[in-house]
Amino acid sequence: MGQLLSALTTTGVGGPAAGYLEAKTEVAVIEAVRAADDAGRRLLLVGGGSNLVISDDGYDGTVLRVATRGVEIHTGPEGARVTVQAGHPWDDVVQLTLEAGLAGLEALSGIPGSTGATPVQNVGAYGADVSRTLESVRVWDRQASSLLVFGTADLDFGYRNSLLKATTVDGSPRYVVLDVTFVLEASEWGSPIAYAELARTLGVEAGERAKATAVRDTVLGLRAGKGMVLDPADRDTYSTGSFFTNPIVDAETAAFLPGDAPRFPADGGTKLSAAWLIDRSGFSKGFGLPGGAGAEVAGGRAALSTKHTLAITNRGGATAQDILAIARAVRAGVRERFGITLHNEPLLIGLEL
Ligand SMILES: Cc1cc2nc3c(=O)[nH]c(=O)nc-3n(C[C@H](O)[C@H](O)[C@H](O)COP(=O)(O)OP(=O)(O)OC[C@H]3O[C@@H](n4cnc5c(N)ncnc54)[C@H](O)[C@@H]3O)c2cc1C
Repeated sequence: MGQLLSALTTTGVGGPAAGYLEAKTEVAVIEAVRAADDAGRRLLLVGGGSNLVISDDGYDGTVLRVATRGVEIHTGPEGARVTVQAGHPWDDVVQLTLEAGLAGLEALSGIPGSTGATPVQNVGAYGADVSRTLESVRVWDRQASSLLVFGTADLDFGYRNSLLKATTVDGSPRYVVLDVTFVLEASEWGSPIAYAELARTLGVEAGERAKATAVRDTVLGLRAGKGMVLDPADRDTYSTGSFFTNPIVDAETAAFLPGDAPRFPADGGTKLSAAWLIDRSGFSKGFGLPGGAGAEVAGGRAALSTKHTLAITNRGGATAQDILAIARAVRAGVRERFGITLHNEPLLIGLEL
């Protein structure tokens, strides 16, 4: 049997791959992509597998795991340009830049996965996202069969979105990210805090700056409390993080919501809290566990995290269908209660919600 994809994903679901390759150099990445394309084989790219839910039937093409490593720091008077190979673990990069006295990535601490995947959905958390410090992305363009460099302005960044994601079909990107360059400030002070909970916990006002290392420690603490830092001993972290994006609705829809519904202006509309909507639709933490309401949905094998209603977790032995059963129940419940349809954040491979 081929490589089991459940072993490559943080949710721990996914059947076998027809073909599996791991590429440790940029040349090997490009060669593997070209070989699959020349042979007309389907190609699924995987980094850390932390934003993918793959079908129990597996994948009938080539799965390529990008396992390149390397970080280059070029320091100038104001700061530094940091170029990172796509396969390098993201959180190692955050830590390394802070150790080098560079600020800008601290609020993005504790996010699993590879650096090459961060521009794909414009990874973000605690009021920050990668588009703010990213300068360029070097890619292999599969359509043109050539190397290409995109600047930030070319990448069409939005909330959990980018050109890279918009041109990815079923986990198969047109542009394969080879490396990512960030511009960071030489400072022990982090970027202004743009998230109320983070500011409160740090004891500063929103908009103020705090020591970058303190921001990292505080973010890691807050995330761990929500099951949002990978921990093999904690089933609440066997997930893709947030399963649903925060919906952006028009003013009319927002006006119908109760007054205490969290809301923020965003992308020409109002961004709501998916976690709040889920909770208020009757799905509490742990929904789907035996003994609790909804245990019948996925037999206790999959459930909402016991620490956060936005993560769908594998409690042990879950299938992709168990994960989707929880997702469908939650989506239907929110739609029934508020008339709002939630959309999945992770890519679903060979699956439909
Ligand atoms: C516990 C937990 C917490 C999380 N918290 C957050 C959070 O706070 N904020 C957030 O934004 N996300 C979060 N995530 C989601 C996830 O970690 C990020 O989206 C991460 O960037 C995915 O990286 P990856 O390497 O695991 O990507 P994968 O899951 O391996 O792949 C995701 C997508 O990126 C594509 N891809 C991967 N590598 C490349 C490449 N080199 N070139 C082109 N395409 C590529 C894949 O084909 C796929 O389409 C969380 C996940 C977990 C499990």
